[in-house]
Amino acid sequence: MPDESTQVTDPRRSLPSVDRLLAHELLAAAVAEHGRDLAVEAARATLAAARTAAPSAADAPTFAALAEDAARRLAEMTRGTLYPVINATGVIIHTNLGRAPLSTASQRAMTAVAAGYSNLEYDLAAGERGSRYLHVETLLCRLTGAEAALVVNNNAGAVFLVLAALAAGRDVVISRGQLVEIGGGFRIPDVLRQSGARLVEVGTTNRTRLRDFQEAIGPATALLLRVHSSNFRQIGFTSEAPLSEMVALGRESGVPVVDDLGSGSLLDTTRYGLVPEPMVQSSLAAGADLVTFSGDKLLGGPQAGLIVGREALVAKLRHHPLARALRVDKSTLAALQATLLHYLAGEAEREVPIWRMIATPLDALQTRAAAWAAELCARGLAAEVVPSTSAIGGGSLPGETLPTRAVALSHPAPDALAAALRAGEPPVVARIADGRLLLDPRTVQPGEDEALLGAVGKAWERGN
Ligand SMILES: *Cc1c(COP(=O)(O)O)cnc(C)c1O
Repeated sequence: MPDESTQVTDPRRSLPSVDRLLAHELLAAAVAEHGRDLAVEAARATLAAARTAAPSAADAPTFAALAEDAARRLAEMTRGTLYPVINATGVIIHTNLGRAPLSTASQRAMTAVAAGYSNLEYDLAAGERGSRYLHVETLLCRLTGAEAALVVNNNAGAVFLVLAALAAGRDVVISRGQLVEIGGGFRIPDVLRQSGARLVEVGTTNRTRLRDFQEAIGPATALLLRVHSSNFRQIGFTSEAPLSEMVALGRESGVPVVDDLGSGSLLDTTRYGLVPEPMVQSSLAAGADLVTFSGDKLLGGPQAGLIVGREALVAKLRHHPLARALRVDKSTLAALQATLLHYLAGEAEREVPIWRMIATPLDALQTRAAAWAAELCARGLAAEVVPSTSAIGGGSLPGETLPTRAVALSHPAPDALAAALRAGEPPVVARIADGRLLLDPRTVQPGEDEALLGAVGKAWERGN
């Protein structure tokens, strides 16, 4: 049996066996807790890494270091891979960081139905089967002025369902300026093809007129489709047919108009100094027959795809087999209902986190950033408050920023500091600008300050 104290020329010979490593006290406890199989896997990974890393016996890690490494690998395996992080990037709807954080009421509603049974599809008054969609349909109709509403897994699913149910085998007319890629490979032309609908492109990349739609309409036309160019902006010599004119044309020709808004806001973004983002209510008021939008972009709720509009069309969607494949679960519906109730109560700006972040005044950001900087300076870090900008993100309002105050950390290796922050507990995701690491208080949730400052302090020590 090899011994860690034995000097041998081949470093592989100086490594202990799996069994011997597992007998180390650090791992013996882990074996008792997590079972032997995972511990063996961790020990094997440690020994394999040591075999490739140590070029000579003199460099071979000590027995204790090997045990520590295996224990760390085992802890990583058993803690799962999805956990909360602190978003200090200033990007409010950060798709990679899970988009919209939920309101307290939404979290509670979600937990309450997740933990036990609920009246998800049960009509308590009648004592018989009910519909899961009723919990949000009435609310959505009241908030948007729609006749009917349906909720599916996400907005990509909503668009797909609309096309499959209303246009398979027929023509969908869309402007060339709106054949967009949303991100993550979601390209409107591909989605159209997959749904079985035929794409009829009209106009040009920068200019499409009502006439272009008029000329394309024929007996095979199922829909006129408008897609909001969420994540990019066209400037210069550009024009698109206004929705109201498309609606008039659609009515004349008996062809429904579908408006995919992407973000789709229920609040007026211009009240916060931002350019206007299309509002769901306005689109319906202008006569769109169906409007689709996301639950977790500017609505600030859970991941979902919301479809609002005419009852006759929504009924066709409800009865399509894809509706079942795309259906939402009880915790999503609970969170969505609670989010919508904030809008109904007129308290969205205060209760829905993304709106609270958008609405945070500059002096509040300055105060919080100054408190962080003072605390970090007191711990010996090079921190100061600087003017910067926050972004909306999530493919909403591209290029639009909100003025903010951030804490800038001057560190010899800002990338190493950022990596140390990401590796911390809790992980912190920050931004680097002009060679400094920036922490934007706008997207750091209330109550996260202490954890953030602690994590920054630790990362700074490790990075120096
Ligand atoms: C974001 C977006 C989608 C996809 O919505 P998800 O909720 O992410 O599935 C579809 N269309 C537009 C215009 C979008 O901006």
